[in-house]
Amino acid sequence: MEIKEKFNLDQVTTFRIGGPADFYCVVQTLEELKEALKFARGKDLAVFILAGGSNLLFADAGFRGMVINIAIKGIEILHDDDNRVEIRVGSGEVWDDIAALCALKELWGIENLSGIPGRSGAIPIQNVGAYGQEASRVVSSVEVLDLEELEIQIFNNDQCGFEYRQSNFNTIWKNKYAILSVTFTLARQPKPNLSYIDLSNYFAGANNPSPGLPEIRQAVIAIRSKKFPDLNEFGCAGSCFKNLILTPQNYLRLEQTLGRNFSPEIVSRLQELKLRFAEEKRIKIPAAFLVDICGLKGQSIGAARLWKNQALVIVNTGSAKARDVAGLFKLVRQEVFAKTGMRLVSEPEWVGFSEQELAKYFEIPNDKS
Ligand SMILES: Cc1cc2nc3c(=O)[nH]c(=O)nc-3n(C[C@H](O)[C@H](O)[C@H](O)COP(=O)(O)OP(=O)(O)OC[C@H]3O[C@@H](n4cnc5c(N)ncnc54)[C@H](O)[C@@H]3O)c2cc1C
Repeated sequence: MEIKEKFNLDQVTTFRIGGPADFYCVVQTLEELKEALKFARGKDLAVFILAGGSNLLFADAGFRGMVINIAIKGIEILHDDDNRVEIRVGSGEVWDDIAALCALKELWGIENLSGIPGRSGAIPIQNVGAYGQEASRVVSSVEVLDLEELEIQIFNNDQCGFEYRQSNFNTIWKNKYAILSVTFTLARQPKPNLSYIDLSNYFAGANNPSPGLPEIRQAVIAIRSKKFPDLNEFGCAGSCFKNLILTPQNYLRLEQTLGRNFSPEIVSRLQELKLRFAEEKRIKIPAAFLVDICGLKGQSIGAARLWKNQALVIVNTGSAKARDVAGLFKLVRQEVFAKTGMRLVSEPEWVGFSEQELAKYFEIPNDKS
């Protein structure tokens, strides 16, 4: 294991943004991870665990401390019968390789999560989800190393505290554990989930009412390729804003505000979205709808631009800095708040920013809450 100094983080993030980490290493085994943690402890360094770098915005100043890139591999079948297969996956396995493997073996449960960048160990962190499927429905347990005690623990699904784009790992346990492996339970019996309109339209168009698993995977990849930029061409970290999860009361407030500031047609579209994404006890409104109606698509600061095909995605069109992305993020949040009263929340994690910078970029004028 080689420990590098002053390692530029733009090389290991899909945004292609980020200044230097004081120290950086890639670990391929539990022993290397422990060794890296002991090195950091010896120098009293802050530690940041990195995987595929696809949900991160590193500051231009980089990270003061040690970034440990987890690349622990391994795939193991723990249980296999006519109904279900339990598979333990090393945190460093590329997630889409696992989705592809499961599609090939006709194992159901993660096909709608095809094409998501990053590694398998990050899947439980923000309870990754897409097209009606979520990690929380397939993760049966998560094996971790306590970064302080250097002891291994296993959490079952209930202990992970999964919510929309959230788990205990990115809230109360933040920076406490490194995930070593994740065990997924997948179904042998077909369980297609075509509830999302993009997917049902795709198969209605293809005149195929009951597609097989590999077809669903291909459909998801095709739909995603139209929404997200090609990462070989542009930098990005996926959606920069989370969708809104509203109480009925907050939804009503949004509807009233849109009624005051927008046309009746926009209010009807909001009402349609409310029905389309209705979930038990929560009302999910796509943040892209709010960004769209505020006329922000295509806005740019420096080389950071809102992507033409998906208003939630900020792309690095060349040499964008973190400050450009952060400035654009601020502009979008402020505009959306001014016109809709809603506070958008960042989906990628911001790392290496000072308290003052965060206060500046997350400031909303006239926010009295
Ligand atoms: C084009 C594009 C499309 C995307 N689409 C989606 C989507 O549809 N749905 C969705 O939910 N997300 C999406 N994302 C976001 C991102 O791909 C996922 O959140 C992914 O799971 C992040 O994985 P990663 O390996 O890149 O994690 P990183 O970005 O490296 O890390 C993310 C967080 O997880 C922590 N972490 C990662 N691995 C470990 C570990 N082993 N132990 C402890 N902590 C760890 C990091 O410390 C950090 O806090 C998209 C991103 C891009 C660029």
